[in-house]
Amino acid sequence: MSGSYICGANGLPSADASALIADKGAACVVRAALEIMADARRLSCGQCVFCREGTIQLHELLKDGTSGSATGEDLELLAEIAVMVRDYSGCEMSSKAAGALVDLMGAYPDEFDQHFRRGRCPALACPAYYTVHVLPDLCTGCGACVQACPEAAIAGGDGMIRVIDGERCSRCGRCLEACDGIAKAIVKAGPVKPRTPDAPIPVGSWADDGGGRRRRRRGQENPEGGVE
Ligand code: SF4
Ligand code: SF4
Ligand code: SF4
Repeated sequence: MSGSYICGANGLPSADASALIADKGAACVVRAALEIMADARRLSCGQCVFCREGTIQLHELLKDGTSGSATGEDLELLAEIAVMVRDYSGCEMSSKAAGALVDLMGAYPDEFDQHFRRGRCPALACPAYYTVHVLPDLCTGCGACVQACPEAAIAGGDGMIRVIDGERCSRCGRCLEACDGIAKAIVKAGPVKPRTPDAPIPVGSWADDGGGRRRRRRGQENPEGGVE
């Protein structure tokens, strides 16, 4: 059915699913599908109902699936609409985009299932599905992350191990870039979080007893003042 219209759009979706399937690496295929469908939605000229309505629905479903607001039924709907748009849209533009989505869902069913049904992103690429943490045994207390943070979400002063407030953090990633060339002390985490202090403590004073409780090493400063 596709190809019976002359497409009024100026191009094809930019992402290439076959290249991603051949070499996925650490990429998130659901985010890749989101970008493909965002392009298709933007490029649709609106002549054909399957493309006009289908690209909107597919894009919205993928936004839900990458932002923590999707359900298992949404995943089934995504698969059904993708096949319809692939097979019944009027030109190569949306047919190719929906076909790429169908291919990605077929090649990586578990990735789609984790996003839509379990609220997880295995690649830690979808901000709704990860948190950001400072690893206390690597932090040097330099403060570069604090300067980079636009949300004032990182606590701690000179010489202190920094602590990120998860409520304030927008997951912009700037602190990860800032620390990358210094100590690589900032990491993303999915369901399993690293152990961190509840509040800033002096650099070098972190000792994890394995049970999630911090012990201060003998002879080191009490962060509230004094020496133990
Ligand atoms: S498939 Fe989409 S882009 Fe192509 S002609 Fe129909 S509405 Fe326009
Ligand atoms: S940039 Fe890295 S090393 Fe420096 S204070 Fe922040 S987390 Fe610690
Ligand atoms: S990810 Fe962004 S908002 Fe969150 S702590 Fe880092 S710099 Fe701040």
